[in-house]
Amino acid sequence: MSNKFEDIPFESNMVPEKMELGSKLKFRCYKGISCFNACCKRADITLTPYDILRLKDRVGMSSTEFLKEHTVPFHMEQDGLPGVKLRTTDEGACLFVTEDGCSVYSDRPTSCRYYPLGHMAMRKSGEQHEETHYFLVKEDHCKGHDEERELSIQEYLKEQETVQYDEMNKEWLQIMLKKRSAGSTVGQLPEATLQMFFMCSYDMDRLRRFVLSDAFKNSYELEETVYEALEQEDVPLMQFGIKFMKQAFFAERTIPEKDKAWEKRVQERDEVWEARRQAELARHQQAEDDKYKDQDSD
Ligand code: SF4
Ligand code: SF4
Repeated sequence: MSNKFEDIPFESNMVPEKMELGSKLKFRCYKGISCFNACCKRADITLTPYDILRLKDRVGMSSTEFLKEHTVPFHMEQDGLPGVKLRTTDEGACLFVTEDGCSVYSDRPTSCRYYPLGHMAMRKSGEQHEETHYFLVKEDHCKGHDEERELSIQEYLKEQETVQYDEMNKEWLQIMLKKRSAGSTVGQLPEATLQMFFMCSYDMDRLRRFVLSDAFKNSYELEETVYEALEQEDVPLMQFGIKFMKQAFFAERTIPEKDKAWEKRVQERDEVWEARRQAELARHQQAEDDKYKDQDSD
């Protein structure tokens, strides 16, 4: 099963036809079909922040434990941002598959719900809102395509209960879309920025410690009730992490800052840039001096 958000429909198993919500799909998957579980035995599942929340609660782990035990990190192809996939056995089988099917079915990830559809959000230049396009993934081992049942993509997604997942994933996917449209420089982002993306997207334990720290509280102006929610609940914390990334990456003022904190940070950043520029000039000057010294001694 391969159904990645960053997939572009140029792979052999993608039917290169753009589909809309009303497009028809001929497919049926059920226990007893000859290929039952074949997809989960070749699983390549990219996880969203909400997928991780649901799964870590399902298996009763903290997010840090879940990331360590059940995921592997990777760089997302188009932007170099850190992604996480479900860990598999050496043979590629999902750790949650059993003889009876998926052992975490009601909390299965977005990709598993969408299969055999791929989907991606695109924004036309100059337009505010993105459109979602769907693509059919046809893999030889999946016999669900030979079944007679026909339904629309909308009906299929309703059956798979994707609505809540789509709602929860929306803003996070928008961040990646925005990063992508910012161009290829994203791949060269500093390590600290990539780590922040990882923490805000996937590791709610670490994000919680960060937002409850004195340093954070001294910089941001939030009501005590907001801090209480961030301390006790995961979904508001995940949504806050997304807001924080918008502020940090795109300078959107999504979180109120304490007096002058914003200006102070901009000033500090300018000072860092100036210090780097001066260091670079000094290095360049030193290299030039060394070159002339070498020429003189010749
Ligand atoms: S989470 Fe469930 S549905 Fe998804 S690959 Fe694993 S076993 Fe299959
Ligand atoms: S029909 Fe396709 S999705 Fe269903 S069990 Fe078979 S391989 Fe998996």
